Amino acid sequence: MEIIHATGTSPGIAIGPVYLQEQQKSEVSMTRIPDEMVEAELAALERALSGVRQEMADLITQTAAKVGAKEAEIFRAQMMLLDDPELIPPVRELIKNEKISAAAAVVQVIRKHESIFTGIKDEYIRARIADLHDIGAQIIRLLNGGQRPRPHFEQPVIIFAHDLSPSETALFDPAMILAFVTAAGSRTSHTSIMARSLGIPAVAGAGEEMLARVKTGDLVIVDGNEGVVILRPSPEILASYRERQEQEKKRRERLAAYRALLAATRDGHRVVVAGNMGCRSDLERLLEHGAEGIGLFRTEFLYMEKEQPPSEEEQLAVYAEVVRKMNGRPVIIRTLDVGGDKEIPYLNLPPEQNPFLGYRAVRFYFERPEIYKPQLRAILRASCSGPLKIMFPMISSLEEARRGRAIIEAVKKELLEEGHSIAGTIEIGVMIEIPSAALIAGALAQEVDFFSIGTNDLVQYTLAADRTNEKVACLASHYHPAVLKLIDMTAKAAHAKGIPVGVCGEAAADSIFIPFLIGVGIDELSVAAGSVLLTKEVVGKCSKEDAAGLAAKLLHLKSAVEVKKALTAYWQR
Ligand code: PEP
Ligand code: MG
Repeated sequence: MEIIHATGTSPGIAIGPVYLQEQQKSEVSMTRIPDEMVEAELAALERALSGVRQEMADLITQTAAKVGAKEAEIFRAQMMLLDDPELIPPVRELIKNEKISAAAAVVQVIRKHESIFTGIKDEYIRARIADLHDIGAQIIRLLNGGQRPRPHFEQPVIIFAHDLSPSETALFDPAMILAFVTAAGSRTSHTSIMARSLGIPAVAGAGEEMLARVKTGDLVIVDGNEGVVILRPSPEILASYRERQEQEKKRRERLAAYRALLAATRDGHRVVVAGNMGCRSDLERLLEHGAEGIGLFRTEFLYMEKEQPPSEEEQLAVYAEVVRKMNGRPVIIRTLDVGGDKEIPYLNLPPEQNPFLGYRAVRFYFERPEIYKPQLRAILRASCSGPLKIMFPMISSLEEARRGRAIIEAVKKELLEEGHSIAGTIEIGVMIEIPSAALIAGALAQEVDFFSIGTNDLVQYTLAADRTNEKVACLASHYHPAVLKLIDMTAKAAHAKGIPVGVCGEAAADSIFIPFLIGVGIDELSVAAGSVLLTKEVVGKCSKEDAAGLAAKLLHLKSAVEVKKALTAYWQR
């Protein structure tokens, strides 16, 4: 038995046989080519590039459908490398000037980029170098006429690899993977992100020597919670981990009891626990986990999985299917929230210095009828299939909320004139995710039918901490008293007008934070599918009365640290 300590990058325990993924090594000859072969090499390079583009486009579509739009972005970012003026043009130059093969030129250019960053430990830079390697390996594979190797397993396995490129990870059938263990990599590497999305345990940074000590078929334990890998465990250790796995299974069974229940506090106060949808496969998972509705349907994936905007009919088919399958449980469809970290190249939005503060979401959307009309027409037409609501993201002023309403009214009128049916009442709401919106929530409440607080953005904008920047992640805390105050103000303003208020950012799934949200009167918590059952259980453990007392106390605290301490103490009572 051997125990390896590394970094747990996706939680859960897995026990099973190893599949050792050999590193794909392609031999590249550096010898010069005769003059008359230069043209043929250039042509081969172009064929390989268009092959890689096609494969990446397929991966984007598959990943957007199987995992999520954000994960599909990984491939879009890689594909963009193919247009980087520092990458392919120098390869062509080397073939022409140095008379080397296309594969050798690709190797040289990538080595040059790598040498610039040697020694830099920054996780982000390392992940970008991994992207560069991946794209280079794919070009070389196609130059050598190779097909993408598609592993096939007879039984579920634990993948051991040096590091997995995003394209290698995406090739595995998730149903046959028990866990991932990589010698390199970190929490932010692509395999880790994909593993977390798929709910597969993963450990990264286990070191190169580890690979020499395992072979395909060995029995191993992977503990993604603690970052531990146990090779060929002793019977005692195996028994203890099987016991832990059993406990985990029991926990899942306990939570399953909440599937059909409507969430309520133990003193009978009702809190809706809905789910967030960010890709097609989320719908099944939300139904499986007993979501009481969809509190946030992120429509971006419909735009990201394609090379042009989805048509009205395509969108109608998706919205109507979701609403029908939710079978009477309300669905809040958010209009396109593009910009910031959600980029859609074919919309041709100009590059900006500060994309999160720029021309994004409704700021861009309201100016582009060719984009908003098909979407709003599709949503309004889908309203005949079941209860749905429309929500605008990134609202910062009263005028934007009014404009959104007016646009919906105009589109409705047009549809009715064309003879389409639309549901009698369709609620229109706004996300409260910019501090200005929370501060004018009283005025906004006069204009709309509901609020949904997007804590992910509310935290980033309140604390001026970019949500995609690991370096400031420690500042971006929803425990910060400023965030607490904005949530409280929003809830008070909503209730003063008699409209409901939900929370659909990640904070809604933070178990220790939930009593604060209940305490200030949040009516709906909308969380990822995997968190629905636990959130229902946590709501059931709270009492509205205690939670209100706790919230009042927290609103007087002065720092995120104090707030977290008080929340922890509340749960330890
Ligand atoms: C949020 O900002 O909290 C939110 C739920 O929306 P998104 O994460 O899609 O920006
Ligand atoms: Mg947001």
